[in-house]
Amino acid sequence: MNKQLLEKIKQLKDMRNAVILAHNYQPGEIQDLADFCGDSLGLSIKAAETDAEVIVFCGVQFMAETAAILSPQKTVLLPDKFAGCPLADMITAEQLRQLKQEHPDALVVCYVNSSAEVKAESDYCCTSANAFEVVNSLPMDKQIIFVPDQHLGRFVIEKTGRELVLWPGYCTSHVVITEEDIKNTKAKYPDAVVMAHAECTEPVKELADEILSTSQMLRYTKASSAKRFIVSTEVGMICPLEKQNPKAEFIAASEKAICPNMKKITLEKVLWSLEDMQHEIVVPKEIAAKAKRALERMVEILPVR
Ligand code: SF4
Repeated sequence: MNKQLLEKIKQLKDMRNAVILAHNYQPGEIQDLADFCGDSLGLSIKAAETDAEVIVFCGVQFMAETAAILSPQKTVLLPDKFAGCPLADMITAEQLRQLKQEHPDALVVCYVNSSAEVKAESDYCCTSANAFEVVNSLPMDKQIIFVPDQHLGRFVIEKTGRELVLWPGYCTSHVVITEEDIKNTKAKYPDAVVMAHAECTEPVKELADEILSTSQMLRYTKASSAKRFIVSTEVGMICPLEKQNPKAEFIAASEKAICPNMKKITLEKVLWSLEDMQHEIVVPKEIAAKAKRALERMVEILPVR
């Protein structure tokens, strides 16, 4: 069945001149199917560089929006229109405008996990891989508003020593990983290196050997001589880590760390997406232009890693 499905997807993909992108948290079969796997911004940049006319983004809404902002001449499709991101939805553009009014001289840095409207209200965008460098590059006399992830924000405060105005947003899939999960897994596998994503809570990060973004986890494990790793992020990340390092063992810190929105994408939905050219993600021009400015400013500070 899957074989037929995959064949049909391939035919349609060629017919539409499409590229299929899959985030590191996607189900394994979607990652296997994709032309490119990676983190959200890396994928959007990759998409903008290809000459494909259609981008099928196997991820969530804000990722497809980012691809649409960076590739305005291409058609961006999200196979499930209900694949949203609770973290991105925790702040609206109106709430950010209100926060800016309360801190009129502050610069705004938004995590890429935010809506196009929130990006459009921000001065700089950042990823979990470069949030520290982006904040560090800003004038010391400037107050900084950081939205929407409070845990990434606290990590940046710790690394830069700067005070940030934080928004109380959080990733519903990362905060379920507890301190006990790390302690119990570490007790079972004492030789394992603990890698935690910055979206994890502070007690979890304190127990980690390395705090890394998904792309940094891939680079770190490739270069490491360790043979066992505890992975404190969304469970889908185990798939690209295993693929890249077949001789190493990767253990999820918690099997509960599943993003249900990421898992909404199925092979059937990818097929329907290409068949019916749905669900097209369109970002209004004015918002896209402002959001792009925040993304470009980030890239000017340092290349995306
Ligand atoms: Fe949003 Fe968290 Fe799911 Fe990523 S893992 S899409 S941040 S809810």
